[in-house]
Amino acid sequence: MKTEIAVFGGGIAGFHTAVVASRLGKKVTLIERTSSIGGLATLGLVNPFMKYWLNGEKLVKGIFEELLNRVEKKGGLFFNIFDSETMKIEMLKMLKENSVNVLFNTVPYYVKTENNRINSVKLITSIGEKLEITADFFIDATGDGTLAYLSGATVFSGNVQGENQALTVMFTMGGVDFEKVKEDVSNNRENFFPWVDPDMKIVSVAGYFEEIERARKDGLEFPNKYFFYNQLPGNGRITVNTTHIGAKTTNISEISRAIFEGVEQIELIIKFTKTYLKGFENAYLEKIAPSIGIRESRRIKGLYVFTGEDVKNLRKFEDGVVKACYGIDVHPKDAQSQKIDKTVPPQPNDYYEIPLRSLISSEFENLGIAGRCLSADFLGQSAARIMPTCAGMGQAIGFTCSLSDGSLWDLDFKKVKKLLEEEGFL
Ligand SMILES: Cc1cc2nc3c(=O)[nH]c(=O)nc-3n(C[C@H](O)[C@H](O)[C@H](O)COP(=O)(O)OP(=O)(O)OC[C@H]3O[C@@H](n4cnc5c(N)ncnc54)[C@H](O)[C@@H]3O)c2cc1C
Repeated sequence: MKTEIAVFGGGIAGFHTAVVASRLGKKVTLIERTSSIGGLATLGLVNPFMKYWLNGEKLVKGIFEELLNRVEKKGGLFFNIFDSETMKIEMLKMLKENSVNVLFNTVPYYVKTENNRINSVKLITSIGEKLEITADFFIDATGDGTLAYLSGATVFSGNVQGENQALTVMFTMGGVDFEKVKEDVSNNRENFFPWVDPDMKIVSVAGYFEEIERARKDGLEFPNKYFFYNQLPGNGRITVNTTHIGAKTTNISEISRAIFEGVEQIELIIKFTKTYLKGFENAYLEKIAPSIGIRESRRIKGLYVFTGEDVKNLRKFEDGVVKACYGIDVHPKDAQSQKIDKTVPPQPNDYYEIPLRSLISSEFENLGIAGRCLSADFLGQSAARIMPTCAGMGQAIGFTCSLSDGSLWDLDFKKVKKLLEEEGFL
């Protein structure tokens, strides 16, 4: 197969890369290992979009804004939360409208390289077909840096001890009585994190410390220090971000064990909610995420390694191509000893930037990067990994590839930034 831009991974990052590059006239093939689109944003049931706005201005624009407007028109967006199925439908429609060639149920298994270039990638489909694809540019948007890893590029994983962030199997519930929840939060402020607002426009709750203690005394091993959920569009629907599993995310046996553990924890959590929580008397399990939530696995070495210090110092770059304002957010592998490592950037009214160089491999001149496998240190990645920022990275690298015929290294990065601004992406 021949294409101009081969994008690996159809999560929120790869989707944006593919649509932007295709709209700018490139022939794009998107290779996705599942039968669906959106990655963690849809199959992982992750919600809501973490903060990407400042003083009323959205920091990620372009196709991301267009997608959100479409989802909103269909009733699938409510402030910063969205319905995963409406999101999938609109993403699929946009891929089709923009003539992106999509290969579902397909993964790479061998990468042919020569000097500093990737020449082609061998693919295998779920039904055993073997294909080979050549392209001018290859984009690793797999989240796990799998294409880069197969090409022999340098990748990093975990913190200094080699420990990855905890994994979470997300799930959704229905039948929650939000009025009772709000009353409970207002009457028991100390039982919740201070940021939980009793007058919430969207129900977003974390805490229930007293009930967790009581449940433990009764012998119910609650798997986390808190119970955390967010309202979803629809009636009494929530998405729950509470299972917590330590595992090595570059080892498939560990990931498989984590899936079993995650589902066992879900059963315990459901029992906990129905036994102890106000507003959950008629609640029920709606859906378990088809994809386990991996926050961090491999990070690819790029021309620049984005760092936690860049986040803390709200650093701007001459080639800054994504604006973001989400702080460092590490979920350590052990939930019980968990000291949540969260750092809000020092000035809440300012942003930092991710440089284009963090989206370009330092070892292969035609290998671009988008999403949570960006070139970053452990803390830098923990801030940059949120969905809007990943969408912004996808847009930036898709746009960059459309400007170039050969090497990503030869581009005038400052000029790319200026063009992104002129075209309304930044
Ligand atoms: C539990 C959890 C909670 C989170 N909470 C929030 C939140 O509240 N708000 C927020 O904004 N962000 C949140 N995040 C972060 C955010 O969801 C992810 O970092 C982001 O969605 C990553 O997008 P991505 O496109 O880079 O990767 P992914 O979504 O992982 O997409 C990668 C895609 O590549 C495909 N793929 C993988 N390997 C291959 C391969 N070898 N070949 C072909 N295709 C492949 C996958 O199937 C997938 O479709 C959370 C993450 C987790 C895990």
